[in-house]
Amino acid sequence: MRTPIIAGNWKMYKTPREAVSFVQELKTAVAGVQDVEILVCPAFPALLPLSVVLADTNIKLGAQNMHWEPEGAYTGEVSAEMLREIGCTYVILGHSERRQYFGETDTKVSKKARSALDDGLVPIICVGETIDERKAGETQTVIQRQVRGCLNGLRAGEVAGLVMAYEPVWAIGTGLTASPGDAQEVNALIRHLIGELYDRATAASVRIQYGGSVKPGNAATLMSQPDIDGALVGGASLKVADFTRIIKATVETLKPWS
Ligand code: PEP
Repeated sequence: MRTPIIAGNWKMYKTPREAVSFVQELKTAVAGVQDVEILVCPAFPALLPLSVVLADTNIKLGAQNMHWEPEGAYTGEVSAEMLREIGCTYVILGHSERRQYFGETDTKVSKKARSALDDGLVPIICVGETIDERKAGETQTVIQRQVRGCLNGLRAGEVAGLVMAYEPVWAIGTGLTASPGDAQEVNALIRHLIGELYDRATAASVRIQYGGSVKPGNAATLMSQPDIDGALVGGASLKVADFTRIIKATVETLKPWS
């Protein structure tokens, strides 16, 4: 059984001080949660202080980006090893905002994923179609191209342990959410493709999140879908109460009798 993972992508919000105060509240709110993995991904300056506050809690730490080289003359960049050393276990790669504003491509994502895995970080690889691509009926083609490109060069055992995130671009930060049926369909497509590219065991093991305006009110139906293994949450992860309700709604979906 795949453990769902609820990740908060804080983007360029929260100073280190605000981030520390947030997780101090969050760790109390989610103290008893066991069967859902909880992750926060703050901006770089908050990573180190959060790693101290989150030690010995059930909340993990992730970064929002990294460079693929281990070191070098790359002003403004950070490496996987640097992130690992300050307590990160995950790194988000290929987020649509990085694709849109910073020239992230599937090729760069695959290089970053290679480097992340080599340094013991778990990549969360984002894919998703734009509204124009969806309207043109190109969703499947786009997702397949992105998945193939981002996983290029990775081995089955590596893919089995990473996280994919289906994030339709038109649903990110817009308040528009993919219907549970549509999100399930694309997540199932990603799993099927990974089965073709690798094998059934890898497809069965890889976790595939949904992201795009996940809120307390829609989390349960989305997280109940068979191929949705958690959420990548932007806006609603910035408020302790909302993020906690999404986590607890996900825990509830794990109880077959509820
Ligand atoms: C995101 O940034 O990955 C995201 C899904 O944002 P939001 O939840 O605000 O749509």
